[in-house]
Amino acid sequence: MSTPAQPQPAVPEQSLPAPAPAVNPETREFWAATTDGHLLLKRCLDCSSVIWYPRVICPECASLHTEWFEATGRGRVYSYTVNHRGEGAYQGAPPFVLAYVELDEGPRMMTNIVGAMEPELAVGLPVEVVFHSAGDEAALPRFQPVRQ
Ligand SMILES: [Zn+2]
Repeated sequence: MSTPAQPQPAVPEQSLPAPAPAVNPETREFWAATTDGHLLLKRCLDCSSVIWYPRVICPECASLHTEWFEATGRGRVYSYTVNHRGEGAYQGAPPFVLAYVELDEGPRMMTNIVGAMEPELAVGLPVEVVFHSAGDEAALPRFQPVRQ
């Protein structure tokens, strides 16, 4: 009798490139927090919208009254695809998962899912943030399945 093949991680996370993002005054605080393992979001103090991506002005009401707060780092896969042909820094990378994760706070963040067995990838999969260093100024927020 043969035993079924064990599922393999869709992406060995160490093999994923981690290109440094462009850090600008609007995003400097966000990226600085990632190097300490914190995921920050902005909230509008006038209309209470949660703002993603980071920017000075609220996209809902144009208010400049916004504040940073720390997200839970949890969410669910909203949509995903397994990408077999990367571009740019991802050229030559093994297949990787490109996804939108809907954060518990509401925004949908484009990211990668790492450490997931391909059969378990699904819309609605609970995930939590992990950070992959992208140099001194930033770490990339990626997501892995929540393990009990
Ligand atoms: Zn607003």
